[in-house]
Amino acid sequence: MKNRASPIKHHLSDQLLMAYAAGSLPEAFSLVVATHVSLCDECRALAEAYEAVGGAVLEAETAPMSDASLEACMARLDKPTTSVVNGKAHPRSVIPSPLAHYIGGDPKAIRWKPIGMGVRQAILPTGKGASARLLCIPAGQAVPDHGHRGLELTLVLQGAFRDDKDRFGPGDVEIADEADQHKPVAEAGCDCVCLAATDAPLRFRGIMPRLLQPIFRI
Ligand code: ZN
Ligand code: ZN
Repeated sequence: MKNRASPIKHHLSDQLLMAYAAGSLPEAFSLVVATHVSLCDECRALAEAYEAVGGAVLEAETAPMSDASLEACMARLDKPTTSVVNGKAHPRSVIPSPLAHYIGGDPKAIRWKPIGMGVRQAILPTGKGASARLLCIPAGQAVPDHGHRGLELTLVLQGAFRDDKDRFGPGDVEIADEADQHKPVAEAGCDCVCLAATDAPLRFRGIMPRLLQPIFRI
């Protein structure tokens, strides 16, 4: 999934987009997907196509589909509408529209809490099953080395970070799971702001982060 016109290099997986379109993701993951989709034409087109297919499957299950409605459905696939997925990012704002609702619409209203080494977080009010937070990592600073017990989605909103996998810049999503251990480091020059969602506590290597984990709910 490469798009030369877009600076976004790391996209959502088809499985995530399908689950999002089907409405089966926990709210926290859905928020990350909606936010990426609002920034990425490529994933937005796919999400809309999956939504159309899902709608067609539902229709087919409840009533036999006529040739005309099948044609209409295929036409929807060819020409995605913009009605279902949230709009584009607000210009000049680091906060894309799906996220704005969760922070009261104003980046200045974000209630950051320090979690050590200059890193700040703001836990977002999402439903059960997974948690979402904004993270602000000072330029050049590392997040403690950790593994994952479940799925972790990290979307960059500002700045960039690197880990042993690659560099992740604005709009990029890193998808990490049980198999991944990493130590993200914010790039020099600009604080890195990310939206991260997890469905299980992280596994930290160091003792201090492990001790602080229950306090910071990470
Ligand atoms: Zn994308
Ligand atoms: Zn991680």
